[in-house]
Amino acid sequence: MTSSVEGMRSQGASRPPAEEARRLSTELEGKPLPEILEWAVGRFGDRLAIGSSFGKEGLVVLDHLRRIRRDVPVLFLETGYHFPETLAFRDRLIKEWGLNVADLRAAQSVEEQDAEYGKDLFARDPDTCCLNRKVAPLRRALLGYEAWLTGIRRDQHDGRKGTPVVEWQELDPSGRGVFKINPLVGWTKASVEGYIEDHHLPHHPLWDQGYGSIGCAPCTRKLQPGEQERAGRWSGFQKRECGIHLMGKPPPPDPATADPK
Ligand code: SF4
Repeated sequence: MTSSVEGMRSQGASRPPAEEARRLSTELEGKPLPEILEWAVGRFGDRLAIGSSFGKEGLVVLDHLRRIRRDVPVLFLETGYHFPETLAFRDRLIKEWGLNVADLRAAQSVEEQDAEYGKDLFARDPDTCCLNRKVAPLRRALLGYEAWLTGIRRDQHDGRKGTPVVEWQELDPSGRGVFKINPLVGWTKASVEGYIEDHHLPHHPLWDQGYGSIGCAPCTRKLQPGEQERAGRWSGFQKRECGIHLMGKPPPPDPATADPK
């Protein structure tokens, strides 16, 4: 990277956003987390948000971000299905860290969704449930921002291997979208957990009870010994993502019609 973070703020204003995202990603690749966050806060200011369900990765990003700018909105998908422990952890962080959390809710309450689709949609069609309760509310909220931060790591699973530091995420067919900034892509599970312990960060109560990645209660189970960290999500389904990180991406090839080569 030849330019400083300051210099990067003034570049690229007129490029198509997808091309600008590629340029930024190349410049920020390998940069330390605080430097990427300082750049993001400097470039996007009040038009920057962070998405978090207060998992380990989000906690590491938030711990750095609050030292740079504490009032960046934290978009929390309040699906109506969270563990009480997750909601208590959210409230603890609001109180102790002064986070500016915005709860994003689905257009339908759980009861309204039950009435339209039948009870426990998550058990029959988790894609539609996630679309209603996660993807749609987040898409609506992101239309009010220019960029958002995530806690994605490349080594979480194969589908995240090629995640760039910055990507352009289209939100609707008219081409409106946001820059999605993934400042933790180069971190590993061990480095995230090491940071949490070394810096004595608060623990989600379920981390110490055998849970790995924690999402909605009906779609999260404890890990068995030796299982991969996200194995407890949507157990029994092929599903690996709720869909918020797939927004704006081409659908994966249909295995029934994919070229066998
Ligand atoms: S994680 Fe489960 S309960 Fe939560 S929105 Fe998705 S399918 Fe529904």
